[in-house]
Amino acid sequence: MMLPILKVARLDAAARRAALARPNADDRDQLVARVRETVARVRAEGDDAALDYARRFDGGAPANLRVPQAEIAAAMSVIGDNALSALRRAIDNVRKFHQAQLAPELSIETSPGVRCERVFRPIDAVGLYVPGGSAPLPSALIMSAVPASIAGCPRRILCSPGTRQGRIDPVILATAQLCGIEEVFALGGAQAIAAMAYGTQTIPKVDKIFGPGSAWVTAAKQIVAEDPVGAALDLPAGPSEVLVIADETADAVFVAADLLAQAEHDPLSQAILLTTSPALAAAVREHALRFLGNLSRQHILEQSLARSRILLVNDLDTAIAISNDYAPEHLILQVSEPRRRLPQITAAGSVFLGPWSPEPLGDYCSGTNHVLPTYGFARAYSGLSVGDFQRRITIQELTPAGLADLGPVAETLAGLEGLDAHALAVSVRLGKLATAADETSDIAAATAAATAMAAQALANRLARPSIVALRAYEHAHWDPRFERLHANESPWPPASAPSSTLHRYPEPQPADLRDALANLYHVDRDQLLIGRGSDEAIDLLTRAFCEASRDRVVVCPPTFGMYAVAANIQGARVVEVPLLEGFQLDCAGIEAAIDGGSKLIWLCSPNNPTGNLLRREDIERVLHAARGRCLVIVDEAYAEFSPEPSWSERLNEFPQLLVLRTLSKAHALAGARIGVVLGAAPLIALLRKIIPPYAIASDSAAAAFQAVTAATLPVTTERIAALVRERDRLATELNRSPWIVRIHPSAANFLLVETTDAPQVFERIKSTGLVVRDFSGKGGLGAALRISIGTPVQNDRVLAALRVASPLAGSRQ
Ligand code: PMP
Repeated sequence: MMLPILKVARLDAAARRAALARPNADDRDQLVARVRETVARVRAEGDDAALDYARRFDGGAPANLRVPQAEIAAAMSVIGDNALSALRRAIDNVRKFHQAQLAPELSIETSPGVRCERVFRPIDAVGLYVPGGSAPLPSALIMSAVPASIAGCPRRILCSPGTRQGRIDPVILATAQLCGIEEVFALGGAQAIAAMAYGTQTIPKVDKIFGPGSAWVTAAKQIVAEDPVGAALDLPAGPSEVLVIADETADAVFVAADLLAQAEHDPLSQAILLTTSPALAAAVREHALRFLGNLSRQHILEQSLARSRILLVNDLDTAIAISNDYAPEHLILQVSEPRRRLPQITAAGSVFLGPWSPEPLGDYCSGTNHVLPTYGFARAYSGLSVGDFQRRITIQELTPAGLADLGPVAETLAGLEGLDAHALAVSVRLGKLATAADETSDIAAATAAATAMAAQALANRLARPSIVALRAYEHAHWDPRFERLHANESPWPPASAPSSTLHRYPEPQPADLRDALANLYHVDRDQLLIGRGSDEAIDLLTRAFCEASRDRVVVCPPTFGMYAVAANIQGARVVEVPLLEGFQLDCAGIEAAIDGGSKLIWLCSPNNPTGNLLRREDIERVLHAARGRCLVIVDEAYAEFSPEPSWSERLNEFPQLLVLRTLSKAHALAGARIGVVLGAAPLIALLRKIIPPYAIASDSAAAAFQAVTAATLPVTTERIAALVRERDRLATELNRSPWIVRIHPSAANFLLVETTDAPQVFERIKSTGLVVRDFSGKGGLGAALRISIGTPVQNDRVLAALRVASPLAGSRQ
């Protein structure tokens, strides 16, 4: 009986299973044996065997297996404008939907120093199969050719049987042309699959085969897919099927037509209606049987409708539960408010929502792919997508510190699994890192790897425990390829600056700028953190390492005031070890000051406000004293004005060393607020956890990036040289001034001068409209003023103000 109506509530478990059983294809074993023979022969004999099979089973043997380019191009003018424009429209929609499937590549740090990535590579060669039969199936080609080209598969070949004296239907050739398929071969059936899987003299070998086909084609795809040197297949295949869920609001004519549309594919096709309405069930059956008489594929429909059912259920929840269990290839929801039911759907190839979404739209042209899992495979498989034409490759890269941290976990797991060599591959490396770490007492033997490990240990031991344990705020994922609705930004640029991108949060650590700065300062990119000026670095370091009312920082006055201020803000104690004669370090004093609570030692070279460089051997001595005990930060805000190399060159020797640099001074960007902290990656990673999420304003990042390009840097270098010349001229000429007692040697962009009377000299300079900084009495300084080097004209004004005789001039002699 065709389309029997069954009441689900009346069926016992076995009857229910039978009602929803899929049809069985008959006598597969015999078919598979014959296909194996075909595959083996084509593999062994190539073109000859293929042509022989084509003669016997396709619509005749083609003159040439490869369809000439001219024939493909000519097909375009044969098929008519109407067909062409329909094909174009379908291709266009399928392209749009599949283009949007291109997934972003991933790169995340799963734990410090452990980077995991996923990239995509197109499959090199894909074979697209389109069956022949009584009518051409251009949609079958569109559904594989379009995603293949979006994925970027370099070789895309088409095999389709010649149906008229070995020639492929022009509709298929025109579709191939529209989809950019250049290699077309007139061959069908199992022989085509074998030819593509192994290659023949004419047909190139491919890596994966896509497309529907007869039972022979399906069997051939399975056979070649089992062979490691054959070709993979797209999806397990089975007869097409539809399941419609309808309530009393559904249109019985629509539902009847939907069932028939599916049932006409194949005698084995199955169409199932689940409905809550007995009236609808009866009407659908009546309309379906009435339509049947007028349809051309009546003989197929009679067989498939015998396998089709109308099932009456008590409610829609039951219908959906049955459907999820059946996992239909196509699921049509003709119920009131179908979208509300969508969250309940857990298994289906493709879903058609509401009365106006007939299944053929998905078959042809809505944009979704019509290659879908049938026969219950939708329980675990999904329809074709761009991802099926790509390889997903994962990547992992560990830093020495990352391995030091995570390696022991792998060792433990290898031990649990009894895989000694797995453990060995980790332990030989950890052993090497440990040896290198031990040797760090011998500076020459210290390696970057050992430093990173030691820095990780230092970070864990010295940082505030709550910061070590802290999970950083996860800011909105930053990826420039997407339009962003994920960060509650304004969709429009600010009304005040309509051509800017200021309505967007900036990239947290702008990658371009980070790379440019890493290049400028000769460090790895994970050894650098960009902050709002080096002021922010000072603050971050203090907050990360100093526990209030417990920890201490060491500062060496007179020096930059922010080190002590940051400590005070955080509630840490400041231990002062004043500079000695010539503003040099009191190394013994610093050594004595280091104790269990010391976290940071602040050194500034060239020092502000004294201007001098600290002796290198002194800094090195402090670094040794601090080894394994606390961090030493060398603030090089003025390094560009000094002849000495940066301490950042020594980062790989000293895990406890951090260096501050800034774009505020030599690069003339004080207003942009860009500074960096350079140090071992684990320390930088720790600071990164506590820097506010979007610290670097986009305009500042852009200005900073410009400042360190190859075009700007030479200009900056010129200016630095000019400023240094001005500094030396000012020093020489000020030396002659009766107001000046002494000028301290400077390697910075300012001079610290001792005057006869600081307030008076300050006022004299001020009377010319220039303001300098009065340091008298600060940090043990006498009547000292700090004068920043200005333009030559400004410097001349300072000199002019101080040329006039001083009342105390005589006392200088
Ligand atoms: N360090 C030193 C020694 C400084 O003199 C200054 C600013 N005067 C800074 C750091 C802070 O500089 P910025 O925040 O502009 O990078």
